[in-house]
Formats: sequence, structure tokens, C-alpha cells
Amino acid sequence: MIIAPKEKCTGCELCVNVCAQKAIQMREDQYGFLYPEVDNSRCVQCGLCSKKCPANLVNQFRVNDIEPKAYAVINHNKKKYMQGSSGGFFSALAEWCVSQNGVVFGAAWDDALNVAHIGVEDGNKLLQLYKSKYVQSRINHVYKEVRDKLIEGKIVLFSGTPCQVAALKSYLGKKYDKLYCVDVVCHGVPNNKIFHSYLDYIERLKHKKIEKYEFRGKVELLGNYNSIVYLKKSIRIVPWQCDPYVYLFMHGYINRESCFSCKYACKNRVGDITLSDYWGYKERHASFDVRCGISLVLVNTEKGSQLFEHVQDAVQCEETDLQYAIEQNAQLKQPTIRPAERNKLLEGWRKQGFSYLYQEFLNRSDRRYKYWLKVLLVKSYSNILHKRLFPRSE
Ligand SMILES: Cc1cc2nc3c(=O)[nH]c(=O)nc-3n(C[C@H](O)[C@H](O)[C@H](O)COP(=O)(O)OP(=O)(O)OC[C@H]3O[C@@H](n4cnc5c(N)ncnc54)[C@H](O)[C@@H]3O)c2cc1C
Repeated sequence: MIIAPKEKCTGCELCVNVCAQKAIQMREDQYGFLYPEVDNSRCVQCGLCSKKCPANLVNQFRVNDIEPKAYAVINHNKKKYMQGSSGGFFSALAEWCVSQNGVVFGAAWDDALNVAHIGVEDGNKLLQLYKSKYVQSRINHVYKEVRDKLIEGKIVLFSGTPCQVAALKSYLGKKYDKLYCVDVVCHGVPNNKIFHSYLDYIERLKHKKIEKYEFRGKVELLGNYNSIVYLKKSIRIVPWQCDPYVYLFMHGYINRESCFSCKYACKNRVGDITLSDYWGYKERHASFDVRCGISLVLVNTEKGSQLFEHVQDAVQCEETDLQYAIEQNAQLKQPTIRPAERNKLLEGWRKQGFSYLYQEFLNRSDRRYKYWLKVLLVKSYSNILHKRLFPRSE
């Protein structure tokens, strides 16, 4: 039984959630990407998995036939601002939802540094959902959990990549007044296996265990695009251009095949609200006096507009020119372009591990001198932070 063509499958796990026979499991392919596998001895050929699969549906879950309204936004609360990838807008939405006794679903790290969607009802635990994790988040049985909470009468805020939001909507099959969907503008997703091969590579190099990893670390002088690697008793801050995993992700070398033909990479969105980075905001919004990025927020529906109203007091926001904002953000216009050498790199990784990708990264990082300067700066930063965080360790 083929649910959807492999090149279109986003790994959203809708089919696993929808199968009453529990006949479908996600399995890694040779490059670590997850695809559904059907156990034919359990399958009763009902066809629901294929019928509900968003990859087989055309534009089904787009919500805005009208022009979205676009805003430049940052969180008023400095701590919350620093906890987000761009303007920290998501935390304002999440806090509002929890204050209404609702449940927020989003992507979180687990103790073993895997990324999976979880539901959070306690405001003190929201932090784990903040910041982008550039690894495909496992859904497991979260769509069902969302439905259960909606049936209980709770407000639910579901956030994720557009393909996950579309899958949730397909799973639910009907509209719920208390469901608010938030999608992120998405560059594509690498997978857990490649990410962990990178972590192993660093651990071997440093002879230390990695305890925590952050992709969008904010450092006033370096901005909001740094990886922060928390090793035992020390940390490393690495600007994205110097982080081989993020560099290869940003250039599309290690992204999932379906991401290169993503049908959601446009201004017609699936979420009530869309979150993204506002690149190039300085030209139009000089009043935002911050160094670590701001959010571009698209309000796509009437419901999204109400949600936006609820959090107005928590944020500084200015309406912005949608066309200008789209011009600054490639993934609101088209999917990431598939690099010609993507398969060659993945094949090299499969045979030789992350050291192969590291070499390929070095071959490609053309502005290396600039990077070395940054690396020096970063090293001193790392040391200062290290002393602040671990005052008695030296
Ligand atoms: C894989 C990925 C690719 C992205 N690519 C782009 C891009 O190309 N251009 C752009 O403008 N913005 C992109 N973003 C969005 C951007 O990084 C920020 O999420 C956005 O600016 C909101 O920031 P914030 O400060 O408001 O909130 P944050 O606290 O940063 O928002 C966190 C939100 O992201 C969700 N999230 C985090 N990791 C994942 C994941 N692995 N899978 C699903 N959901 C996740 C959380 O559930 C939460 O809703 C991407 C995000 C992700 C996760």
C-alpha cells in the first residue's frame, strides 16, 4: 500500500495517527528521514491514510484567500524577547493560551536531545517550546491529544511547520472554534539521525558530553543566529556560518526531499497566524531598537486577528508592508532550492559519517577569513559566559 509518493511525503505522521488498525509505523530511510511503513498483515485497505494525507490534497487547508495583514513585532518583555528566535512573539501567544486554561502544543527537546511535539498546560513549562529547533519534530500521537483536549472544551494553540498544521486539520476533519493554529515560515527540515551524528562528532572532538543545544542563541553583539553548545562545564557560541550543521541546513544540503517542493512556501498560509523572521526590517521599522531580530507576523484569518488582539499589550508592533516583507523572506515566495549535490553529500554522510559533511562544509565556506575573525570573537565571548555560568569551575 502506497500512501503518497515518497518525494511528496513530509513525514507529518498523519497516517500513523489516523490508522485505526495501528498498521503504520514511521521508519528511517538510508539517510535517516522518516517515512511510513505499512504492516500489510494488519492493513484492512480502508484507504483512509491515503485519502487524508495532505500530500495528496490540493490546497485543501489554506486559510487566507484574502491578503494577510503583516506586522513587525517584538515582545515588550526583554527576557521573553531573548527566549525567542526572532521577536519572541510566540511566547506572548503561548502565555495568553495558558492564562485561559488552555493547552499549547509545539516542538520541544527531550533529555536525549531529540525533538518532539508536546502539549503544555503549565506556564512554567512553556520555555521548552520556545526557539526554533532545526530538526524534524516527531508528532507521535499528538494530533489525537489535540482532539481530546478540544473535546474536553479546552482552548488549544497548535504550532508547527505548515505541513504539520495541515496534517492536524486533515486529522480533525472539522473546524473547532477553540483551536488556534500557528505555522512557521519554514526553510525545510533535516533529521534527527544527521543531527545526532553531528553531536557525536563534537563530543568526540571535545571529549565532553553535550548537555544542551540551542540553534538560535541570542548574543547582543552577534545577533540571533548563533548555535550555543552546552558541553559539560563549558559552552561554545558559534555563529551559524561557522556551524557546519546549520550551514548545510541553510543551504538545503541535508533537508528532507519533500521540502524542495513544499506547497506551503508562499504567502497563502495554513495557520491563523504565521511566524517568521523579519529580515530587512531596519529600513522600514527604525523604531525597533533591538539587536537580536524581530518577528514578521502574518495574520491570516479573523480568528488570527482575535488572537493577535489578545496579546497586543504584551508586544510592540507596527503594521508593515506585506509585499516588502515577502521580498525579504525567500520562503514566503518559494521552497528552498534543491542543491545539485544534495544526494552526493547525503551518500557521503551515510558511508563516512559526519566527518565527511564537515569536510564538505569547509570546502564550501568561502568567506573563511571572516569566519575565523568571528570565531576568535566568539571564543572570548564563550569564556566570559563560561565564567558567568560556572564561576567555581575553574
Ligand atoms: C525548521 C524551521 C525552519 C524555519 N525556517 C524559517 C525561514 O526560512 N524563514 C523564516 O523567516 N523563519 C523560519 N522559521 C521560523 C523562525 O525560526 C521563528 O520560529 C519565528 O521567527 C518565530 O520566532 P519567535 O521568536 O516568535 O518564537 P519562537 O519561540 O522562536 O518560536 C518557536 C515556535 O517554533 C516552533 N518550532 C520550533 N522548532 C520546531 C520544529 N522543529 N518543528 C516544528 N515547529 C517548531 C515551536 O513549536 C514554536 O511554535 C523556521 C522555523 C523552524 C522550526
